[in-house]
Amino acid sequence: MSVLKINNLHVSVDDKEILKGITLEFKTGETHALMGPNGNGKSTLLSTIMGHPSYQVTQGSITLDGEDLLAMSVDERSRKGIFLGMQYPEAIPGVTNSDFLKAAINARRDEPVRLFDFMNNLDQAISELKMNEDLAHRYLNEGFSGGEKKRNEILQMELLKPSFALLDEIDSGLDVDALRIVADAVNKMKEENDMGLVMVSHYEKLYQLVKPSHVHVLVDGEIKAEGGYELVEKINNEGYEWLVGKQDNSD
Ligand code: ADP
Ligand code: MG
Ligand code: MG
Repeated sequence: MSVLKINNLHVSVDDKEILKGITLEFKTGETHALMGPNGNGKSTLLSTIMGHPSYQVTQGSITLDGEDLLAMSVDERSRKGIFLGMQYPEAIPGVTNSDFLKAAINARRDEPVRLFDFMNNLDQAISELKMNEDLAHRYLNEGFSGGEKKRNEILQMELLKPSFALLDEIDSGLDVDALRIVADAVNKMKEENDMGLVMVSHYEKLYQLVKPSHVHVLVDGEIKAEGGYELVEKINNEGYEWLVGKQDNSD
């Protein structure tokens, strides 16, 4: 089992404080939901865990099994098993999807992956996710539809087999059928691997399909409520109004 610990994390962007003391603990095998109104810091938290350079940590710590994650480069974090499925995946012209995936896998191994094994795993994941076969050979995210980009993030996750997968609004832009396919793939990964999952979504539908064991609500840079699945239902019925202005209860 692995533990990702966030303690009293304060994060600023351009000298504006976005996260104001976040304390959370994620373990492999657990499924966490991170909810909250738009613009309150959810993506900032996930990007900071991954090591995006725009986010300055001004106070607090993030550790993975006791090791200082904040001291590691993005590549090192990825090699340690942290994965971020992004809200807005970027296009990389000139790099094909399969080249990108192969490089990402090789960066985490001592010996390069055997081409035959790689192609087999890639073909299997593509067919499981019911993606177009040509997506593997197209330039990464270039001209991909919103739904294709999101599925492609899941494809990367399947091949990289992270110990912690952070999925940022992975359900946005997906129709009902695609959502089910993605949810099935995530659930299968959880069954087959000792993976910790942190999902950001606004929609109960995703949480019905991939049930969170822990739910946290981030409002104005602080965790304002925590609980189990019942919190998803409460927010679905009542919105966030009751939490705005509430004191931080994470410590
Ligand atoms: P959420 O994911 O909860 O919708 P975000 O973490 O994306 O919220 O944004 C929180 C706040 O931080 C917003 O006010 C947003 O404008 C600001 N912010 C986030 N990332 C950046 C960035 N790279 N540059 C400037 N401002 C940012
Ligand atoms: Mg606090
Ligand atoms: Mg966001």
